Amino acid sequence: MRDFSRGHEWLSINTATVRKQWRLDRIIEECARRGIRAISPWRDQVAAVGLAAVAQQLRETGITLSGYCRGGFYPAADAAGLAAALDDNRRAVDEACTLKAPCLVLVVGSLPGALDGKPVHRDIARARAEVHDGIAATLEYACKVAMPLAIEPLHPMQAAERACINTLEQALDVCDALDPARSGALGVAVDLYHVWWDPKLAQQIARAGRERLLGFHVCDWLTPTRDLLNDRGMMGDGVIEIRQARGWMEASGYAGHAEVEIFSNDWWSRPAEQVLDTCIARHRSVV
Ligand code: ZN
Repeated sequence: MRDFSRGHEWLSINTATVRKQWRLDRIIEECARRGIRAISPWRDQVAAVGLAAVAQQLRETGITLSGYCRGGFYPAADAAGLAAALDDNRRAVDEACTLKAPCLVLVVGSLPGALDGKPVHRDIARARAEVHDGIAATLEYACKVAMPLAIEPLHPMQAAERACINTLEQALDVCDALDPARSGALGVAVDLYHVWWDPKLAQQIARAGRERLLGFHVCDWLTPTRDLLNDRGMMGDGVIEIRQARGWMEASGYAGHAEVEIFSNDWWSRPAEQVLDTCIARHRSVV
C-alpha cells in the first residue's frame, strides 16, 4: 500500500469542498500554491470561469484532474426530457475531454422531479431502466472520444432524488451488462461516504478490479449526521475506516488519487485556506 504519510502527491481536491468560499480559478491557484496536484471540478464551477480559461490555467499550473463532475441525471418525465439529458451528457463528455479528465463521473439520477420536491411518478424500476439506456447511449459517444465513464453509487438516502444506483454491486452489474469486455471505458467511482456501510464493500471492490476502479472519493461519516446532503465530515472526524478501504482499493489495483469531497455547511463556513490545509494534514494522517 502506498505511504501517504510523507507527502500529498496523491491528494486531489474535489472543488465542491471549498465552492462557497472561492471561485474555481482561485481554488486552482491555492491548490498549486500548496503543491496539490489534482482537482475534480464541477461543471457549474467551470462554466463560471469559462472552459477555455480553466483548461489554460490547468496547463499553466500543471494541475491535472482526478475526475470531472458530473454527468448523469438520465430519467425524465417524457421523451423530450430523456433526449435533453443525453444531449447534456454529450456536452459533459466534451468538456471532460477539453480538460483532459481521466473520467466523467456519473450521478445517474432517479425519480424525475423528485429533486424539486415534485416527483412525477414513483416507479423506481422505470428510472433504473432509463438510467441503463442512458448510460448505454453516453457510453457509445464517450467511447468514440475515449472518455471513460465512472458510475458513482449514492447512499440509499438519496435514492429518490439523485441516484437509483445505490450500491457498488448495482453499479458493477451495469458495467458488466454494458461493457462485458472490461475495456476500461466504463467503471465506478467509489465514494466512501456513500458505500462505507455496505457489507459487500470489500468483495465488490475486489470484483471491480483495476479496469473498473476509476475514482476514489474520501471524507467521513459524522455521528449524528445533521443534514442528508451537506454534513459530510473531514477525514478522521467520523466512523469510516478510510485506510482499510484504501487498502482494498489498492489490493484490487487502484493506483490513482484519493479525492477529498466534502459537502459541509460547517467546512463551507470556515476560511478556505484552513480547509485545504486540513485536507492535506488529514490526507497524510488518516487516508
Ligand atoms: Zn463523490
